[in-house]
Amino acid sequence: MELLNQFYANEKVKQTLVNFITDGRLPHAVLLEGEPGVGKNHFARLIAASSLCSGEKKPCGQCRNCRLVLQDTHPDVMLLSPDGADKPYSVHALRELILSCYVLPNDGDQKFYILRNVHEMSEQAQNTLLKIIEEPPPHVFFILTCQNHARILPTILSRVVTLTLWPCPVEICAQALKERNPDTDEEECLRLAKQSGGNIGRALSVLQDEHLSRIVKNAQEAAQLICDGKEFELLCLLNGYNRQKDDFLLFLGELRQIFVEALRQKYGASDKNFLPGAMLNRISALQTMRILDIIDKVSGEAAQNVSISLSGAHLCSALQQTLRG
Ligand SMILES: [Zn+2]
Repeated sequence: MELLNQFYANEKVKQTLVNFITDGRLPHAVLLEGEPGVGKNHFARLIAASSLCSGEKKPCGQCRNCRLVLQDTHPDVMLLSPDGADKPYSVHALRELILSCYVLPNDGDQKFYILRNVHEMSEQAQNTLLKIIEEPPPHVFFILTCQNHARILPTILSRVVTLTLWPCPVEICAQALKERNPDTDEEECLRLAKQSGGNIGRALSVLQDEHLSRIVKNAQEAAQLICDGKEFELLCLLNGYNRQKDDFLLFLGELRQIFVEALRQKYGASDKNFLPGAMLNRISALQTMRILDIIDKVSGEAAQNVSISLSGAHLCSALQQTLRG
C-alpha cells in the first residue's frame, strides 16, 4: 500500500484499485485515461504489481514480483508502445500477441499486457485487439492507456473498466517537484507546478529540459500578448520560430494548454489559478474557445508544412479578428 500512497493525489482511482485487489476481482481489461505526464505508465505498473505481489500490503514494493514489475523486467508483464521498432500495433503483430496470450505464465498464474497509447491504434488494429479483450484466457489481464477515450472504439470501451487519472492540485505538484529536485527552491517549484497545471510529468520535463522551458516561457509571453491585443509583438515572437517546425508545434501545444486552462478557470472547473485574473478578464469564454480553434487550425497548417512565417501571420490575423470582433 506504501507504493500506492506514493502516487500523488488521484485518491478515487487508488481506492478503486485497492478494492479490486482486496476483493480479488481485478477486471481483465482496464483502460487508464489521462493527459501525457499524469502517470499512466507508472499506475499501470502499480496495477500489475498489486495483483502479482506476494507481500501483505499490496503492492508492497519489496517482494520479487513488485521489484521486477517496477523495473519493467517481470517475465509475465509485457509492455508495448506504438513507437516500438517492430510495429507492435500492426494487425499482424496483434494477431501474434493474441496467440501468445494462450501460453501459460512463466512464474505465477497471471500474465499482464500493458499496451500504451492505444489511441494511436488504427480502427482495424483496435478491432483485432477487441477479439482477445472480449474473451481473454483466465490468466490474462490487459492494461491499456490512452490520452482520450474518444479515440477508442465504443466496442472496446464497453469491454474495459476506464479509470481516469488527473493532474494534481498545484501544491501537491510543487511538493513532488521539491522532493525530486531538492536543489530547486520552493518558489520555483510552485511556479512550475502552476505553469504545468499540476501535471507532475510535464513540470518535471520542463524543469529538466532548458529548451522546453524556453518554449513554455515563450508560450506564456504569447498568451499575455494575445490577451493584451499586442499583435505586432506577437508576430515578432512568432518569427523566432521560422524554420523550426518541431519547436513551433511544441510552442503551439503549450499555448493551447494555457487557453484550455483559462477556459477551465473561467467556468470554475479549475482551482489552479493558472492565469492571473487581470489577464483572464480581458478575454471572454467565447473568445477563448475561438482562440483554441485558431491554434488548432494553425497547428494543422504547420504540421502540413505551411511555412512557419505564414502560419504565424495567419495566427496573428485570426486572433486580431477574434479579439476585436
Ligand atoms: Zn510486493
